[in-house]
Amino acid sequence: MQPVFRFAPSPNGELHLGHARSALINHRLAREAGGRFLLRFEDIDRERCRAEFERGIEADLRFLGLDWDGVPRRQSEHFADYAAALEALAGEGLAYPAFMTRGAVKAFAARFEDEEGRPWPRDPDGAPLYPGLDRRLPEDERRQRIAAGEPFAWRLDMAAALARLGPLSFVESGMEVEAEPALWGDVVLARKDVPTSYHLSVTVDDALQGITDVVRGRDLLPSTSVHRVLQALLGLPVPRYRHHDLVLGADGRKLSKSAGDTALAAFRAAGLTAEDIRRMVGL
Ligand code: GLU
Repeated sequence: MQPVFRFAPSPNGELHLGHARSALINHRLAREAGGRFLLRFEDIDRERCRAEFERGIEADLRFLGLDWDGVPRRQSEHFADYAAALEALAGEGLAYPAFMTRGAVKAFAARFEDEEGRPWPRDPDGAPLYPGLDRRLPEDERRQRIAAGEPFAWRLDMAAALARLGPLSFVESGMEVEAEPALWGDVVLARKDVPTSYHLSVTVDDALQGITDVVRGRDLLPSTSVHRVLQALLGLPVPRYRHHDLVLGADGRKLSKSAGDTALAAFRAAGLTAEDIRRMVGL
């Protein structure tokens, strides 16, 4: 089977050195294997993503000497695919409407810590776990609250999913590793303002685009456990994974989109070459 790699930035800012490293590694692995290299814009957040950032990303990739196969996939054009996946999960009783907002979850965790004197569990990104208070709401109460216009997010019933699936694993850098999805609790599958989530849309797209090899920054390694659960529930193929080292800023922290001084466009404007960028990201 011809290997298929992808670079999947969110067009909500300029690419920085970390993105350059990821794109260069993916492109090299794809071409060395005689495979395809796809570009995907993860633009589900319509508020923050902009067409001008897409153009900038394409210009940055060309500057790096990278070509991609076919037309880039834009997630915002495929909300129906994610809705179908969500519907399948809800239909199996594995997704439920959760009315507690992120703010309310934070307040709940703070109150718990205050009263109990011990930490409320957090997910690998550091956010307090969803307490799951409305996981078992009676159906008619759910219907009433939704009919009354109360905002809600769809969450995965992780305990129910794991009881059904048992232990899961995936291949990371050639080695079988155990997935640890329970660390995430009931992750969000879709929100009121964004009718999908990173976890749901990336999993669906990797399958729909026939991605055989997911190569991305190490910060996304914990998320792979969630993707593995969604693959198992939705009957999707499981790509091989490889999470590479991140490019860290001078302060030792991971680069962010607002780290303007490491933006590729700025280096390009300052006259640096693709070769310079490769050297700067250790390739
Ligand atoms: N869109 C994600 C980002 O820009 C990357 C997703 C992935 O590679 O799975 O960080």
